Amino acid sequence: MLFILIITIFNNFSGDFSGVNKISVDSVYICPVENEVIMSEPIKLEYTGKIYYFCCSGCEMLFKKEPARYIQKDLMCLPCSDYDAKREIYFIYDEVKYYFCSRSCAEKFRKVPEKYLNGK
Ligand SMILES: [Zn+2]
Ligand SMILES: [Zn+2]
Repeated sequence: MLFILIITIFNNFSGDFSGVNKISVDSVYICPVENEVIMSEPIKLEYTGKIYYFCCSGCEMLFKKEPARYIQKDLMCLPCSDYDAKREIYFIYDEVKYYFCSRSCAEKFRKVPEKYLNGK
């Protein structure tokens, strides 16, 4: 009776374990800088409301310097929450480049960046 119980517990445990393995295989991240699948633990960065993953801190730094180079879609103007930002109108805050639709939006951001960067 005890023997059967142990077998049952062991089976449950191995079941859970393979489940954990499966999750880590399923979540594949692609480094936007090198355009390659990240094999190690990815570096997480939130930028204009989206999470980006990088293979190394070097890639993260390149992204922060020139996000427009690596973002395929339109750039978000944070004060408007609209995807109409222009590459020529930008402001660098905390070593990260942000883009804006107009000079007045860039100015709004420059005055109170914390207002637009939640969680920072
Ligand atoms: Zn990378
Ligand atoms: Zn704007």
